[in-house]
Amino acid sequence: WPTHTTFVTGVLPAQHGVLFNGMLMREPGALPRVEPWRDKAEMVRVKTVYDAAHAAGLTTAQVDWVAIHKPGTITWAFEERPDPAGEVARELIAAGHATPEQISGFRGLSVVTKDQIWTTAAVHIIERHQPNLLLLHLLTLDSTSHRYASGTPAAHAAIGFLDSQLARVVEAVRRSPMAERTTLMVVSDHGFKTAARTVRPNAMLRRAGLLTADANGAITSGDAFAISEGGTALVYALGADRGALLRRLGQLFRDAPGIARVVEPSEYAALGYPAPDNNAQMGDLVLVAADAHSFSGGADGPDVIDNPQPAGFHGALSSDPEMDSIFVASGRGIRAGVRLDRVTATQVGPTIAALLDLQLPASTGTPLHEILTKDQSPTAPGTSLFNGRDLSGWKVPEGDNGHWKVVDGVIDYDAASEAPGDKHLWSERDYGDFVLTLEWRLKSTPYVNPNVPVILTDGSHKKNAEGRDIRISVPDSDSGVYLRGSEKAQINIWAWPVGSGELWGYRTDASMPASVRAGATPKRNADRSIGEWNTFEITMRASRVTVVLNGEVVIDAAELPGVPARGPIALQHHGARKNGDWTSPPSLVQFRNISIQELSKNR
Ligand SMILES: [Zn+2]
Repeated sequence: WPTHTTFVTGVLPAQHGVLFNGMLMREPGALPRVEPWRDKAEMVRVKTVYDAAHAAGLTTAQVDWVAIHKPGTITWAFEERPDPAGEVARELIAAGHATPEQISGFRGLSVVTKDQIWTTAAVHIIERHQPNLLLLHLLTLDSTSHRYASGTPAAHAAIGFLDSQLARVVEAVRRSPMAERTTLMVVSDHGFKTAARTVRPNAMLRRAGLLTADANGAITSGDAFAISEGGTALVYALGADRGALLRRLGQLFRDAPGIARVVEPSEYAALGYPAPDNNAQMGDLVLVAADAHSFSGGADGPDVIDNPQPAGFHGALSSDPEMDSIFVASGRGIRAGVRLDRVTATQVGPTIAALLDLQLPASTGTPLHEILTKDQSPTAPGTSLFNGRDLSGWKVPEGDNGHWKVVDGVIDYDAASEAPGDKHLWSERDYGDFVLTLEWRLKSTPYVNPNVPVILTDGSHKKNAEGRDIRISVPDSDSGVYLRGSEKAQINIWAWPVGSGELWGYRTDASMPASVRAGATPKRNADRSIGEWNTFEITMRASRVTVVLNGEVVIDAAELPGVPARGPIALQHHGARKNGDWTSPPSLVQFRNISIQELSKNR
């Protein structure tokens, strides 16, 4: 589980805190024991990518992922031990994909059957719920490689079986409406080594008088205790006089057969382990198995035994190249044909975050920029609202007579629609919560606006000594983007010094609270010069809007009281002409690269 948790957090166990396949419980007078079914909040110390996705309004799903019990941020779960009353389990039974007996008796199923049902659950979640993020974990290769060792015919058969399960997931994605927007990553949390002999540190402790076992070999108490992780074992000094005990343990294991190295806490940081002071689950020493040896936990019998047949193991130090594994990515946002050199597990989470436009502030890994395509810029997600050829998907105003048009792949407007009524260009569809990205430019500013106020950061107008608004003349053109069918919820495009992105309708509404009017005021002017292209990323969630203009947040989660829950988007007409001259700022504007990603309605 440590590596799984690194995948979703972008940090090493030293930071995320998960050291075992569960949580090590230490109680006075008892030997430490690993408990798997502890809540995620207890085990994982930093934000995960599914936490970030959930917080951003995306939907999340997990099937047999680990260190993820009751996280509160997973929309659909089918756990390692599935809850028969859970939504996904009930849906699988209702659809005939699993029997009630399989779900209630899940623990007794073979690992192959479990993997089949987990895959069925993942396919079902993709088909039924179309989550934004799905984590799926399959086990057959691990189980088979432990028993028969890696590279054997049994392990190859397990890989073939997993390929066929993965194919079911890929086919489900291809059939789904999200196919074009889906990225697939295949990762594995460890490699495998093969052991001819098994080393038993608890047997060494028993013979040294530091641990007692009953007639059946079960460990009953001890001044020291080792937990085997395969290629390593963590040793806990439990008895009094720890200084002397630790020295004795170091000596005992350094001289022992089958142990290559005894790692002291001073070396932990370089290996990604936490200091014991910072995480009580961490051992006081780490034993590293000699070549072709692995650890096990038993206390009875000899220190080292010959395995009846070669056995697979992992849990070696993270610096061991045989622990390296695979990383494959494909689909949206992934450049085809790139061969990566060695990547680290800490890079997986940041790469997912980049693809979903999420922040993983704690992560120490960098996204795999080599494989990310430029055009999948995380700030341009979603479905295109403009095909570059015609205005399909948009309602051209009745009687417009060709003034809203497509020129050289961009939407071009001359502010001269002949429509007798509404002259705006409205989307055919309604949207609720969304991230809308688009590029716009003002072509020219033939009209000089003599009446532009100087806007203070609270949204009020700067006044002169007589208490009147200071007005300045600015070469000006004017358009904007209406959200949810609301003129008031308009993101302005213009040449005012306050900058584009302003919500004029809210800023100037004296009935609105001061905080709303300040929130509707751009924090800075991030506009480019007239004639240059600008990028808006407009995030509308519930009644709040955030506007990023050319990479800078100009409106930060501004509250829009009374904004409709859903509605179409409009590109605004503005301006009038009299005797051939403009009498107000015209929308001499162009738009391109318009796309929208709808956010989940499930929260
Ligand atoms: Zn394993």
